[in-house]
Amino acid sequence: MKEDCGIVGIYSNVKDAYQTLYFSLFGLQHRGQESCGIVISDGKNIYQKKGMGLVYDVFLSENSNELKGYYGIGHVRYSTTGSSKVENTQPFVADYKGKTYAIAHNGNLTNSYQLRKKLEENGTIFQTTMDTEIIMHLIVKSKKDTFEGKLIDAVSKLEGAFSLVIFTPTCIYAVKDPYGIRPLSLGKINDGYVVASESCAFDLIEAKYIREIEGGEIIKIDKEGVKSINYGKKKDARCIFEFIYFARPDSMVFGESVYKVRKNFGMKLAEEFPFDGDIVIPIPDSGNIAAIGFSEKKKIPFEMGMIRNHYIGRTFIQPFQTTREMQVKIKLNPVKEIIKGKKVIVIEDSIVRGTTSKFRIKSLRKAGAKKIYMGVSCPPIKFPCFYGIDFTTREELAASKKEIEEIRKSIGLDGLYYISLEGMLSSSSISPEGFCTACFTGKYPIKVKNFKKEQFETE
Ligand code: AMP
Repeated sequence: MKEDCGIVGIYSNVKDAYQTLYFSLFGLQHRGQESCGIVISDGKNIYQKKGMGLVYDVFLSENSNELKGYYGIGHVRYSTTGSSKVENTQPFVADYKGKTYAIAHNGNLTNSYQLRKKLEENGTIFQTTMDTEIIMHLIVKSKKDTFEGKLIDAVSKLEGAFSLVIFTPTCIYAVKDPYGIRPLSLGKINDGYVVASESCAFDLIEAKYIREIEGGEIIKIDKEGVKSINYGKKKDARCIFEFIYFARPDSMVFGESVYKVRKNFGMKLAEEFPFDGDIVIPIPDSGNIAAIGFSEKKKIPFEMGMIRNHYIGRTFIQPFQTTREMQVKIKLNPVKEIIKGKKVIVIEDSIVRGTTSKFRIKSLRKAGAKKIYMGVSCPPIKFPCFYGIDFTTREELAASKKEIEEIRKSIGLDGLYYISLEGMLSSSSISPEGFCTACFTGKYPIKVKNFKKEQFETE
C-alpha cells in the first residue's frame, strides 16, 4: 500500500527559502518516504536537490549557506503513477527557451494514458514515467501568449486529482483540480506566502495558516503578493481518507482540524458500536485519535495497549529476510499487563487487505485478551481509488469480496463493527456531498475510462 505525496511552495523575501522548504518537507514526511526534492531560486541562480530516501538523508550533505534563494517548491513522494526510481523524483524540472520551470504534484491523473499517447504521437519524448511530466509538456505546448494562459489551458485538459506547485522564473503557482480532491493550504510567512499539502508544514516554519485553496483555483504568489484565479470549479469531492488515515492530526486539511474530525469519527463509532468492553485501545498511530473520541463517548478507559517501535521506517534495512508477521511484531508490541484477562475494544482507522490486522489481533490474543472487538473508523473499503490513494485492485480489498462476518473470522475477532457512511460523513462541518467516498460506495466523482496506470512503466 502506498500513500500519496506532499508538496510545498514558498515565496518570501527571507533569504533562507532552502531551510524553510527543508523544514516544511520534514513536516510532510508522513505523506511520502520514497524520495524528495526541492528547487529554489534567488532570482538569478536556480538550485535543485533531489534524491531517494527521507528528507533528512537526502539533504544531510548540503551546506545550507550556499543555497541562497527566496522562493521555491518541494516534494516528498510515494509513487502512485510512475515507478520508484531516481528519474521519477520530484519536483520535475525542465528548461524551456533558456528559462527553468519545475512542477511538484500530489494526486493522480485519470487520463494520463490518453494525454501521453497523444503527445507521443506528436513527437514528444519523455524522460520519466510520471504523469507530472505530461503537465509540463501541456503547458509549453499551449498556444496561449502568457504563462498564466498556458497554465490554465494545460490544467483544463487534465482529469483526476491534482494539487500542484509550479516554479517559474519569477513566481510560484499553486493549483487544485476542479473537484478539490487533494488538500492544499495557503499560509503567510513574514512578508511572503507559503502553500503546503497540510498545515503542519507551516508550524515548524512559523507560518500562519490562512485557508484551504479551493477546487478549480490557481494561486499565483510573487512580489506583489497573492492572486487567485478560478479556472473552473466543479462540485467538491474532497478525499475523506485524508481525515481517516493520511493527514497528521495536528494539521488543518480542507479547512478542518484533522484531530477534531478524527475524534468525532471515534465518537460516532461509539454511538453505533454494539459491543461492550473493559478497555479501549488504538492501533497506533493512525487509530489514536478516534480511540480517544470513542473512549470519551463510551466512558470506557483508554489505554495504550500496544506500543509502537518508532525506529522501523519504510527504509528500514533488515540484515535478513523476515516474515510479514515478524515485521508487524517489530512495529507493534502489546502491553501484556494491560491486555491480560480484559475484554478489549481495538480501534483501527481502516481495514484494507486485512492482513496486518490479522497479525495484530493474534498478538493481542497471545497477550491474554479475553475478548477482542474491533471498531473501524471508516466503512468497508470496497472499491479502488484512482485519485492517488493506492487501494490497488478490487480483488485485494478485503471488503470487496467478503461479508463483514467473514472478515471478522479471517482477522480472528470476537466482534467487528465499521462506522456507518452517514456517521462518518457527519463528523465534520463539511457537507456530506462535499466528499469523495468512491472507495466505500463506488460512486466516482470523475468517470474513469480505460485507466491504465502501469501503461508507461518501463520495468
Ligand atoms: P490491513 O490490516 O492489511 O488491512 O491494514 C490496515 C492498516 O493499514 C491500518 O492500520 C491502516 O492504518 C493502514 N493503512 C490504510 N491505508 C493505508 C495506505 N494507503 N498505506 C499504508 N497503510 C495504510
